[in-house]
Amino acid sequence: MALLSVIVPCYNEEENIIPFYEELTKHIGFLEERQIGLEVLYVDDGSRDGTVAKVKELRQRDGRIRLVSFSRNFGKEAAMYAGLSHSRGDYVVLMDVDLQDPPSLLPEMFSYIGQGYDSVATRRVSRKGEPPIRSFFARRFYGLMKRISKTEIMDGARDYRLMTRQMVDAILSMQEYNRFTKGIFGWVGFETKWLEYENIERARGETKWNFWKLFLYSLDGIAAFSTAPLMLASVAGVIFCILAFLMIVFIIVRKLLFGDPVSGWPSLVCIILMTSGVQFFCTGILGQYLAKTYMEVKKRPIYLIKEEI
Ligand code: UDP
Ligand code: MG
Repeated sequence: MALLSVIVPCYNEEENIIPFYEELTKHIGFLEERQIGLEVLYVDDGSRDGTVAKVKELRQRDGRIRLVSFSRNFGKEAAMYAGLSHSRGDYVVLMDVDLQDPPSLLPEMFSYIGQGYDSVATRRVSRKGEPPIRSFFARRFYGLMKRISKTEIMDGARDYRLMTRQMVDAILSMQEYNRFTKGIFGWVGFETKWLEYENIERARGETKWNFWKLFLYSLDGIAAFSTAPLMLASVAGVIFCILAFLMIVFIIVRKLLFGDPVSGWPSLVCIILMTSGVQFFCTGILGQYLAKTYMEVKKRPIYLIKEEI
């Protein structure tokens, strides 16, 4: 019998665990028709509330529930990776526990897998209910990534995605420490069907992402899937050399025509400040990539498990 694994990363989500399960079970009648089994794998990302207790309570009711619990908070990327590596299903779907990823889409998603797609992904076409500043920067991020990365990263893509075992194994073969799953999905390729839906607001509790966290996450994404920023230093270097050459010609000509090579102290200060600023900026970019490389080289585990049921 085939098996579907539902992977649910949870961080301090005690009030969402059971509503999610109830909503999910309303929409999985199609599994029985197709003779497909189910496992629901909650990945507790080091929650400090009653999340683990709630999952254990559910487990008493339904033997198809599984739990992987981390020793501390490792982040959603680590939780998704752990979920994928512990899943046993022939088909695997990643879902948020806050019901922003509607389980009602599952039957439709599954029908596409039957039609030969390896993966069915979702994207939200609107961002209603989100702070405008967040939407603005999200759009800029996707626009920038389109230009500087060869990997396709879809605007508004969610992590809500159904995949075949083959694709899951491909994702698991990418064992990088700095994980940016939205990019990894695109990088591995395979035939993907995109479904679109209107943004749904979180059922209960609060988002775990503030603006600053998302901003840093977007920088991770850029560093993980593009090396274009590293080119910036070379480009800036060439531009400044050309400018310097033009300045030298200008100053020599001016000296020959008008004398007085000394005046121009303010412009000199501006030039020094400007060029040293650009240099620090470029060194900073180098540092970012070096830091990422440093973390990769250490080969630390992506997550640590405290408990598994
Ligand atoms: N999450 C997680 N670890 C974290 C932060 C979030 O496992 O460090 C989970 C969270 O419990 C939820 C999902 O990731 O199931 C999405 O998080 P959230 O709803 O806060 O993000 P948003 O939908 O606002 O982008
Ligand atoms: Mg959410």
